[in-house]
This record gives sequence, structure tokens and C-alpha cells, in this order.
Amino acid sequence: MIDKALPEVRAQDRALIQQGSDYIDRLRNQGADRAFVHSMRGAAVSEETALAQRNHFIVTTLNEARQLEADGQHDAALVKFGEAVHPEMDRTSPWHVDADGRPRVWMPASVGAAVHGVEESRAIPSADEMAAAAARMQAAYKYVFGGPK
Ligand SMILES: [Zn+2]
Repeated sequence: MIDKALPEVRAQDRALIQQGSDYIDRLRNQGADRAFVHSMRGAAVSEETALAQRNHFIVTTLNEARQLEADGQHDAALVKFGEAVHPEMDRTSPWHVDADGRPRVWMPASVGAAVHGVEESRAIPSADEMAAAAARMQAAYKYVFGGPK
């Protein structure tokens, strides 16, 4: 996904972005209260709230990445950027959102954590979904880094 969305970015930089995204799928981020980072929602959370939480997470994390880049911490900015765009990647997955893009309900942590990584790699988004996600990631990259470097 990252390789397809940001082909002009150096391979070593893309690896750091992937590292940040993978970090979001680690166990400590797998509770229902953190479902929004995967474009999902807790059972007690409305779709609107989950989407607002997700968008807030993306914006604040992108701003952190942008600040790191401005401070000359390019590698740290790349990892942070990977964290920020993780929900963008998950929202292309039919397992995470329904056909209308509404966040699905997160499973109990033990089940969700076990299934999450497997399902994420197996789910095949449509070409339109992939193109839209790639465009959002490119815009986010430009916002944080100003352009390929
Ligand atoms: Zn995820």
C-alpha cells in the first residue's frame, strides 16, 4: 500500500513509514477504545464519534510528524507519518469498514488482535478505494514533508 501510494519516496524512507504503521497494529493499540486508529469503532461508540476520533487522530499525528520534520528529525517524522496514515490504510479494508465506508464494530481485544493482522493482509480493496486512499496518503505526505525527498 505504501509502496504503491508513494513510489517516488526513497525505499529506506518507505520502510520507516511502514514501521510506524506496523506499530499501530501492536497489541497495546488493539483495545476497543483505540479502534478508531484502524478505522473501526467500539461497540458503545457511534459511527460519527468513531469517524471524528479517527480524523482527529490523523490530523494531530500528521501535525506531530510535520513538527518533527521541521525540527530536522526526518526519520522520526517518517515513523510518525506511518502511524498517522494507518487508519487510511485500514479504511480500504472491507473487514474494517462496510460498503459505505462506515466503521465496523471492533471485536474483543483477544479475538481482534489475533485476527486483525491476518485479515488486513487478506482483504482486497477495490481499485477505486485504493486510488482514493493513495491520493489521501500523497496529500498527507506533501503536507508533512513538502514533497519527495
Ligand atoms: Zn490496523
